[in-house]
Amino acid sequence: MIKITNGAYTYGSQTGFHDVNLQIQSGEAVCIMGPNGSGKSTLLKTIVGLFSLEKGKYVFNNQQIDKTFLSDSDNTGPFYQQFGFVFQNSDVQLFNTSVNDELAFGPEHLGLSKEDVQQRVNDCLKLLKIERLRDRVPYHLSGGEQKLVAIASVLTMNPDIIILDEPFNGLSPKYRALITQIVKQLHHAGKTIIISSHHFNQIRSLVDRVYVFSEDHTITREITADQLEEMPRFIDYLDNL
Ligand code: ADP
Ligand code: MG
Repeated sequence: MIKITNGAYTYGSQTGFHDVNLQIQSGEAVCIMGPNGSGKSTLLKTIVGLFSLEKGKYVFNNQQIDKTFLSDSDNTGPFYQQFGFVFQNSDVQLFNTSVNDELAFGPEHLGLSKEDVQQRVNDCLKLLKIERLRDRVPYHLSGGEQKLVAIASVLTMNPDIIILDEPFNGLSPKYRALITQIVKQLHHAGKTIIISSHHFNQIRSLVDRVYVFSEDHTITREITADQLEEMPRFIDYLDNL
């Protein structure tokens, strides 16, 4: 489904990532690990088409995703719709004046009826257990509450692929447990999950496979969760990146 071969992206003279090879199948749950600044967010933004590769090749469902593809809005509409991207900082993602409006914003632009939009909003509020936040201003919520709203607002679009960039950062154990449970539920429902983290234990129960970035902005290791369970010292390393 997602295949990147020898991919590289730079910000001016600053390397985002280089020589990255990655392949993710539909329905998999994969974690991108690595220390701060190693390239995780840049890679996730490339996968969803916010950036195009400067070197190498990105193929999504047999379609090459490059500058030309991404500059045509006939392509990008259907392409973007497959992804739900939960940004590392939820406050950049939330801009409506109520949680209800925040969740309705995406589906309203899909041309659904008012009733269908509200049904999706209600379902997602319930799934994330945040019905109580419906009339609150997203900007005023706590970090954990904002993260749940950001996830819910992505799920109202019913994307096939859900990408979460360090979703556990700064959250209390209670919120971490809730998000873990929801991600598991989505994975069991057949969604493809791509999550980034620098604490292995936070994603241990969630993923099938892990890619590991080095400080040098490239992926140096790809390993299954089962293989990892036999490698306590590597787990320890991955838990303290
Ligand atoms: P991670 O998500 O693993 O912490 P990033 O993908 O955010 O890492 O960053 C990878 C590298 O790209 C880092 O060296 C970072 O400083 C650099 N970088 C990220 N965003 C920008 C930007 N907007 N402009 C310049 N450099 C950037
Ligand atoms: Mg990041």
